[in-house]
Amino acid sequence: MLEIKQITKRFGAFTAVDELSFEVPEGQIFGLLGANGAGKTTTFRMLLGLLKPTEGSITWKGQPIPLSKIGYLPEERGLYPKIRVDEQLIFLAELRDMKRKDAKQSLLDWLNYFQIPQYEKMRVEQLSKGNQQKIQLISAVLHKPDLLILDEPFSGLDPVNVEQLKTAVRKLTAEGTTIVFSSHRMDHVEELCEHVAILDHGKPVVAGYLPDIKAGYGKTRVLLTTD
Ligand code: ATP
Repeated sequence: MLEIKQITKRFGAFTAVDELSFEVPEGQIFGLLGANGAGKTTTFRMLLGLLKPTEGSITWKGQPIPLSKIGYLPEERGLYPKIRVDEQLIFLAELRDMKRKDAKQSLLDWLNYFQIPQYEKMRVEQLSKGNQQKIQLISAVLHKPDLLILDEPFSGLDPVNVEQLKTAVRKLTAEGTTIVFSSHRMDHVEELCEHVAILDHGKPVVAGYLPDIKAGYGKTRVLLTTD
């Protein structure tokens, strides 16, 4: 269980996240909704240990989360365009203490899963945006993390790639991975999550079971955008 208790992050006088609490049981997906600047990325940086909460606590099974157990797909593209897919993903997996042979096998399994084995030895810049995002997801899960953080994973992608990535996300939770993902699109969250929090200027305006929240959707709709 991931437990976020009353986390607040202040940058000087500015409060980016204000008393946010939520829990995610193992193998479930939690959706963090909010417009640009609402505090989603700051929350993720605290989950990753890159930022220390000003107040509050974050625990995984009652303990601080070791970075080796987390997978992260950043909002901004995190791959090196000029380096081959296999070279950079295996290198990153080795940094996370994975054996080269296991990393290579895991990469091949995932490329086959997405039916793109031909991209193994291509440079990232040679791939379409949708395929780059699949490689980015593979990079986040190659070391088989317990907790996966996905920051706007479907942003700017075409519907076919969005569907393929959603199917992969469902496969990961079916295998026991716990996922927290952010979006400014209610429809994406609705399809994948039962539990969500909606952030507005760092404050959780609603948090809980999605069907209950939808009953008050008229109130929250203004915080979200569609693209
Ligand atoms: P987006 O999708 O645009 O990234 P977001 O919901 O992820 O939006 P954050 O990136 O968490 O939002 O930013 C929340 C607020 O905190 C913004 O107003 C941002 O300018 C501010 N902020 C983030 N990091 C810092 C920092 N290091 N110093 C000062 N302010 C910051």
